[in-house]
Amino acid sequence: MTDPRPTALQSAERRELILRAAVREGLLDPEDALLAGFIDLDAVAATVAALHRAFPEQVEVLHAFAAKANSLVPVLEELRGLGMGCEVASPGEFAQALAAGFDPARIVFDSPAKTRRELRQALDLGAAVNIDNWQELARVDELLADKAENGTPEPRARIGVRINPQVGGGSIGAMSTATATSKFGITLADEGNAERLVAAFRERPWLTWLHCHVGSQGCPLDLMAKGVAAAVGFAQEINRELGRRQVVGLDIGGGLPVDFAGDLGGPGYEEYVERLRIHAPALFSGEFQLVTEFGRSVLAKSGFTAAYVEYTKNSGGRAIAITSAGVQVATRTVFAPEAWPLRISTHDATGAEKHGEPVEQDIAGPACFAGDLVARARPLPLLEPGDIVALLDTGAYYASTPFNYNSLLEPAVHGARVAADGSVRFSLLRRAQTVEELLARTGG
Ligand SMILES: *Cc1c(COP(=O)(O)O)cnc(C)c1O
Repeated sequence: MTDPRPTALQSAERRELILRAAVREGLLDPEDALLAGFIDLDAVAATVAALHRAFPEQVEVLHAFAAKANSLVPVLEELRGLGMGCEVASPGEFAQALAAGFDPARIVFDSPAKTRRELRQALDLGAAVNIDNWQELARVDELLADKAENGTPEPRARIGVRINPQVGGGSIGAMSTATATSKFGITLADEGNAERLVAAFRERPWLTWLHCHVGSQGCPLDLMAKGVAAAVGFAQEINRELGRRQVVGLDIGGGLPVDFAGDLGGPGYEEYVERLRIHAPALFSGEFQLVTEFGRSVLAKSGFTAAYVEYTKNSGGRAIAITSAGVQVATRTVFAPEAWPLRISTHDATGAEKHGEPVEQDIAGPACFAGDLVARARPLPLLEPGDIVALLDTGAYYASTPFNYNSLLEPAVHGARVAADGSVRFSLLRRAQTVEELLARTGG
């Protein structure tokens, strides 16, 4: 296979092909399907191939997709088929990963709030567990002692500790997990913690991994690589202090930032590996197995969300298009527009791209609060009722992560594959929620 990564032109062309086919097939319909998410599954496959290529072949690495970025079971199945593992952080995500057919040995369980029941399940199934804090460590001690009493002494699961390298934050506070006071992991630099961790590893031969995840969108690559370097350095320190190779693996987390500004540029895995080589060369020495936990960078650029324009108006000199896509599918963009801007493409009722003179317009959603805007004063071809807008780069954390405000229904999400002749084949990734389901969910 030649490098199938879509170029800028191809991405826009592919989007248009997918939209036109969706209108023709009624997946978008001005009466019955006003809003839908789409994922270009060929583009996803290309991204995952780029991820696999970026890491050196001689290093044993499991790329565990962070399920929170898109937890639709058919999407997880697709990623499993492409050779990924799965990182989960709640019992719901754990169940989704199992339903998608992941071998528990390829599931990584992270969460700062794992309950006894959840930990027991993960240990029984043999999933990897990253312990977040001292109290969780004590809880795992108890569970393992229980298991030993019942005749299963040695844990099959790979168990590690999440450390916080405290390298600082990126440009989005809510996405920065390695600040001095972050809620995640055991801080490395705080008084006494490093010594206490070394002792904890010495007393527990089953503690064999270290985990760190510096942050997500907004964290520069060098900051992430520095966090990983601190984890690698600490792994080597533990092994040196203990005089044995007890730490056998490093889980370096996810967090590769995505370029939401354009179609050019790949996911950037090669560049990240390059930075890791500079900051943490021991990572690739063959001394350690690796796990990664990328989410957003695997899927964001391969998805978009399409919605019909219902009405247009002009208020106080501002052109406004009211559409079906708002806070229920673009939650972060609506609540934190500076941190999460989205590109928008405009299409006529057939799905063909519009090319009119740009006019500043607000693109509004259907929810009943004034801030429900996915774009403000955005120069775009003038929209009319019946047109379609596409919110771009929404393959991760958008349509798959709906928000229930105003009881707005969850839209369908469709997978798409584009053949060489331009024909499009769809597969259903999630049905649209029905009013009956909403009523049942809300006690009706
Ligand atoms: C959210 C998260 C990830 C994935 O982050 P992305 O920015 O989507 O790559 C990975 N690991 C942990 C522990 C996370 O919380």
